[in-house]
Amino acid sequence: MQRRQATLKEKLSEHYRKRDFKAKKQTASTAGIVFFLGMLFTLVLEGLVVLLPNHFMTEDGEIGPGYRWAQLFCVWLFLETALNWYNTYYDIANRVTKEMKSNYYPVSSETPPGWKNCPTCMMDAPPRSYHCTLCNHCILKRDQHCFVTGSCVGYHNQRTFVVFCIYVLISTVYAAYLQFSYLNKMLPFTSHWASFYFPLTGLWQYLIGAVSFMQIFILIHLCCTLVSLGLSAFFLFWQMVVISRGQTSFEAWKQIMIYRRRAVLDNFRDVFGDLLTFLLCLVVPLRMHLPGDGVKWVIEPKAEKGH
Ligand SMILES: [Zn+2]
Ligand SMILES: [Zn+2]
Repeated sequence: MQRRQATLKEKLSEHYRKRDFKAKKQTASTAGIVFFLGMLFTLVLEGLVVLLPNHFMTEDGEIGPGYRWAQLFCVWLFLETALNWYNTYYDIANRVTKEMKSNYYPVSSETPPGWKNCPTCMMDAPPRSYHCTLCNHCILKRDQHCFVTGSCVGYHNQRTFVVFCIYVLISTVYAAYLQFSYLNKMLPFTSHWASFYFPLTGLWQYLIGAVSFMQIFILIHLCCTLVSLGLSAFFLFWQMVVISRGQTSFEAWKQIMIYRRRAVLDNFRDVFGDLLTFLLCLVVPLRMHLPGDGVKWVIEPKAEKGH
């Protein structure tokens, strides 16, 4: 007897039946959060207690001009980075709820056009939202899961995530400059001390007693600062690319272009609001009004997949 071929619907339901619906462990997110918070607090302490006094110390042992401004700048960078991190981390507004559908389709029990049914959350989710197996929620306009904040970047926190990347970038550039000038003062890079700047040989020089604990500590810290600098520059650049194209990272990967707006400025407005709101967000780390609600999306008439 010939076996009947399973239909697509049957294959899909079989796939969902076998799927593990349990939330995945957030081990990478925990490691990312610990690394970030460790770097944040050690950098501000190192900056205020060791690097800035050393940087502004003149040859006669006096503190030079601009020291207090530099201290204020450090504290301001610390507060902005920490508060924008918190605003990205605290992403409850991004979670898809049952009310979102009932607000637009109060009587329909069917999945509306463009929406999808999430078998894990057991509810209909709006266009552009996707289920995150780490957060275990459907996230509005899901862009990516951020391991440094341990939460998804989506409709309501993409702006704070970008501002967070900007502050991490400024902070790490300034910190790397101070760390390098601290080391360069005592162990000039252009002398026979150049080998110290490679972490392994630096560590060897510490073990044989040629350099102090503070010097090797700042060298390792400088390496971690440079890694953070590279990551923040990469994510900031990538966010600018996808936002200007009116896509999320997921849509860029899948080449989905139906939600992009024709003008680049409109794509930026969808994420950042108007210019004044964005400039305010850059200075004041508050959650401010966004132009839409992340649920309703207009498909541009001429936008087609792959164009
Ligand atoms: Zn879901
Ligand atoms: Zn997530």
